[in-house]
Amino acid sequence: MPSCPGTMTNPLAGQPISPPRLSAAFRQRCEALATEARYALGLKAFQPLPARQLAAHYQVLLLTPLDLAADAGAAVAQVLSQPGWSAALISRQPPVILHHPLHSAARQEANLMHELAHLLLGHPLPAFDPATWPATLDKQHEREADYLGSCLQIPRRGLEWAQQRGFTRQQTAAHFGASLQLVSWRCNATGITILSAALDA
Ligand SMILES: [Zn+2]
Repeated sequence: MPSCPGTMTNPLAGQPISPPRLSAAFRQRCEALATEARYALGLKAFQPLPARQLAAHYQVLLLTPLDLAADAGAAVAQVLSQPGWSAALISRQPPVILHHPLHSAARQEANLMHELAHLLLGHPLPAFDPATWPATLDKQHEREADYLGSCLQIPRRGLEWAQQRGFTRQQTAAHFGASLQLVSWRCNATGITILSAALDA
């Protein structure tokens, strides 16, 4: 089964955050894709875009291991027990994403946006071998999916909007259905300053 842990740069996986090694042109393309996705759904750049709404727009079927056949119990247990496993794009035609159903709502948003980003960027499905996973994943593709996924959650223009309204990072996270860690990651990536609430500063 192809799988995608999102553990190397995924801002929601609780891993050390490394600066994106991506070109300025790629990052600009991601911002444009994030804005276009909202426009396609009749949303403004500053409005939250639920990942499930975007998945429905692209007619992506979302499954969890619990949706698999009952006789797949052992496989389900294996998938869910993989450390750091979040989600996987397991088919392109038709598009199907298998995702972890027990993560927090904010992390599920990030997981799904990461996989939708793989789809939008045309990345090939990785081969899944439990013996070597996740070392065999294409690290550059993972970085790219992390970056586009985070843009889809909070576009630069959405971050600027939050800054102009005087939102804290906590308010920004709540508005976009994102984690506080993702807001911090986006602030670092864009250079846009949004302060934490006083109690958490
Ligand atoms: Zn991935």
